[in-house]
Amino acid sequence: MSLAERTRREHLLASGAATVERCRRCAIGGTRSHSVYGEGDPCAALMVVGEGPGETEDQLGRPFVGRAGELLERMLAAIGLPRDEVYICNTVKCRPTLFDGVRLRNRAPDPDEMANCRQYLDEQIEIVRPRVLLALGAPAAKSFLGPGFSITKQRGQWYVGPLETPLIASFHPAYILRQTGGEVSAVKRLVWDDLKAVRARLDEPVPVPAPAPVTQPDLFGG
Ligand code: SF4
Repeated sequence: MSLAERTRREHLLASGAATVERCRRCAIGGTRSHSVYGEGDPCAALMVVGEGPGETEDQLGRPFVGRAGELLERMLAAIGLPRDEVYICNTVKCRPTLFDGVRLRNRAPDPDEMANCRQYLDEQIEIVRPRVLLALGAPAAKSFLGPGFSITKQRGQWYVGPLETPLIASFHPAYILRQTGGEVSAVKRLVWDDLKAVRARLDEPVPVPAPAPVTQPDLFGG
């Protein structure tokens, strides 16, 4: 990837982040501390898409930080990908919350919020053009594959995502962290299978576009 192309993508992503920072299309745009646009390599082969910012992400304005973020980094490292070589974002750029009478709690984004925010996610995919999309958690998977998608039954399979990008879904790191007892190793085994599938897909040769047909120039005139 040329430096000029990398710089072009960085500018487009920075412009997208500035637009999101001004966005108040949903009510959660007014309750967030910071918008969380996304971060990482603008030329990444892998784009990770989670559901939405949680409390720590909202405070720091960065996706996948805190314990879930640390686990994601270990998951990526296990398949040879440092975090800064991946592009990481969410289906919604503002923290979805629920007031329980005492404090704001995290909740999954609702379909209207995901629909409102979809334009920004699509723009990120268009700019980064990853070779693989990894959707983490049921809301992210459903945002690509429809409301009937079952993360427990349909994760680990390949689908066609936006711009014909190969897409696979797996469990969200926060879900893995919530597991207890024997469930922990069972879920980790499934996630490891999914990560290995991502690695194998990334290791496939990059298709080389067919050269444009060469037409014979009119060397001798009329
Ligand atoms: S969630 Fe997305 S669409 Fe809704 S206010 Fe935030 S940035 Fe705008």
